[in-house]
Amino acid sequence: MKTSITKDKAVHTVFGIVPSRRLGQSLGISPIPKKTCNYSCIYCQLGRTQKFTKNRSLFFPITRIIQELKEYLSSISEAQYDIITIVGDGEPTLYEGLGELINQIKSIQKKPVAVISNGSLMANKQVRQDLSLADVVLLNFDSWDEESFKKINRPLKLINFKKRYEGYLKFREEFSGILYLEVMLVKGINDKEEQVSKIAKLIEKIHPNVVFVNVPVRPPAESWVKIPDQENIDKAREILNARRMDYLPAGDFSSLEKNPIEAIIDIIGRHPMREEDIETFLHGRIINNPDRIKELKEQIISELRAISKVKEISYGSTRFFRLV
Ligand code: SF4
Repeated sequence: MKTSITKDKAVHTVFGIVPSRRLGQSLGISPIPKKTCNYSCIYCQLGRTQKFTKNRSLFFPITRIIQELKEYLSSISEAQYDIITIVGDGEPTLYEGLGELINQIKSIQKKPVAVISNGSLMANKQVRQDLSLADVVLLNFDSWDEESFKKINRPLKLINFKKRYEGYLKFREEFSGILYLEVMLVKGINDKEEQVSKIAKLIEKIHPNVVFVNVPVRPPAESWVKIPDQENIDKAREILNARRMDYLPAGDFSSLEKNPIEAIIDIIGRHPMREEDIETFLHGRIINNPDRIKELKEQIISELRAISKVKEISYGSTRFFRLV
């Protein structure tokens, strides 16, 4: 097993609880360093990929991740989360200890384990075996051939559309858990009826439990990426017999950090937050004191604006804060 351990103890591998549009209240685990991926999707909310890698590595020791998880679990009640989700600041199947990590998470708590993956390594038997240990697997499926795959997901050269697709088909045969597929629609790129129909034809053979149609609601890596017209989203949903995700719920963002500003920085390192998300987050911490929440929100926003690594991004009619 190749080891490439990240030494930075300040990096948290456990985060949340984040309201997931697909999975409920999700306690997140990120076993890979920030923005480490084998794709550089045009719509990625983390920006362009900074660390391209084709190798699976043990970026953090499993013992460290499990220790952080135990500490987190001891600070919350079981009712506060629905699922533990292994999701990266990049691609989680690049973590070589994925199978063992899933086993250990299951041995210390009872809630289901999900993995959200871009599906890039589905041709690899070991990756499929690792993913088979999860209860829920969510894979991305935005394209219909090699050309559209390269245009949308911009994978490393060695990742081949056909082999990846064959890996999806094998995985469905091997995996008895819940399989979700997510199609991210981008205006003018993959939202035309004939394009969506080609995607649907391929997806049909995989037999996922549910297909989700998503749109880039958060600021994307490329500024020219746009949300499709509602008519096209509705049509795509009909063709794919899919559930729609083109909204952002108000949610209960939380973090291990005690100080609210540190907690928000912790969250926006992984997940862009809107102003109203900050307010919702404060509601979760300060009970019934609207004046104090308003005051603290303004103070936090002005502190965020003073931090050079925090970027304020206007996207559509909404402003987001993201750590770069
Ligand atoms: S969207 Fe996911 S798969 Fe695509 S570049 Fe970002 S982290 Fe990687």
